[in-house]
Amino acid sequence: MTGLPNIKSLTLAQLTQTLKDWGVEGYRFDQVFRWLYQKDAASFEEMSNLSKSLRAKLAEHFVIERMTVTTVRQSEDGTRKFLFQLSDKESIESVLIPNEERQTLCISTQVGCAMACSFCLTGTLGLTRNLSHYEIVEQVMAVQRAVAPDSRITNVVYMGMGEPLHNFDNVVESVRLLIDEQALNLSKNKVTVSTSGLVPQMLKFGELLDVKLAVSLTGTTDEMRDVLIPVNRKYDLKALMQACRDYPMKRRNRITFEYTLLKGVNDSIEDAKRLIKLLEGIPSKVNLIPFNEYPGSPYQRCEDATMFRFQKYLLDRHIQANIRTSRGRDILGACGQLKAEMERKRPPKGRAAETIPASM
Ligand code: SAH
Ligand code: SF4
Repeated sequence: MTGLPNIKSLTLAQLTQTLKDWGVEGYRFDQVFRWLYQKDAASFEEMSNLSKSLRAKLAEHFVIERMTVTTVRQSEDGTRKFLFQLSDKESIESVLIPNEERQTLCISTQVGCAMACSFCLTGTLGLTRNLSHYEIVEQVMAVQRAVAPDSRITNVVYMGMGEPLHNFDNVVESVRLLIDEQALNLSKNKVTVSTSGLVPQMLKFGELLDVKLAVSLTGTTDEMRDVLIPVNRKYDLKALMQACRDYPMKRRNRITFEYTLLKGVNDSIEDAKRLIKLLEGIPSKVNLIPFNEYPGSPYQRCEDATMFRFQKYLLDRHIQANIRTSRGRDILGACGQLKAEMERKRPPKGRAAETIPASM
């Protein structure tokens, strides 16, 4: 251990400022970013188009850290789960979900989650800590490294462990790095950030970045949503749907609403009717997610027939509704319920309404 800081723990703005302070010519900045993020350099040595003196100076001040995958688990349907151990021995997971056209990586933003949604395994763990922007971006880089040269990650969804907008600054910086032309250079419409409904952060996020937004709705009345997604007690359906209406759309043209179907809880035609009413005036599509049961889960997956009836009701009324099959079920790898096999170190924390700081 050298004790030098990891260069990738700097934001793009900080790294730019450092190079400026050193008197490095402007065009070199992009070269450094590209080596770090596009060429995934393991050392400053290999940055062959930089001068020897700049390489030496970088090495005097920084190291290039890389996160390594500790375990890979392959599911029968082609989904692969990648487990990482962080420097403080905490662990996180990412899931790679392939289909014909895409390789979608589902990434985590926190160790655990404070939102305490009653149907989510991650929610039972409470929040241990936020991930840094480096730990978020490095999931993409490390999985890319592990699957190269056979495949390339094309899409990234922030739907793993944690509530992205509860780790706002690090998530914003990570998205910047994913879409920056000089960094990972993913297209803006290939990156989706999902939220359980942190209204003020959602609007702020929309002003800063125009990647895609997904909102986990799952309940169609406040009574129901207060229990399922307790952050609803702070930002109720009226506030959430208004925020969706006010969301700056630019090029992202619609919001995806995720709706996890829970048997006998939110799977009736009455729910479908209320859902349609809620979506009025919002350019949207709905992703219906069959509930992924886990040992001790307090809810059940609804019957396939109920799910298709729900979907048909929406489709017949011109609401685009896809059923998002829970891929990777045999490795408990479906998005939103990662860290399944982590030893439950802490008792679940209280309801989100009490655990979320008043400033949120
Ligand atoms: N925290 C963010 C993103 C991660 S959760 C959010 O809540 O939006 C990603 C999705 O998985 C959410 O829509 C969530 O409702 C869903 N989910 C959580 N647990 C699930 C389970 N056991 N089965 C199916 N979907 C689940
Ligand atoms: Fe957190 Fe999302 Fe799970 Fe809710 S559904 S507890 S916000 S990870």
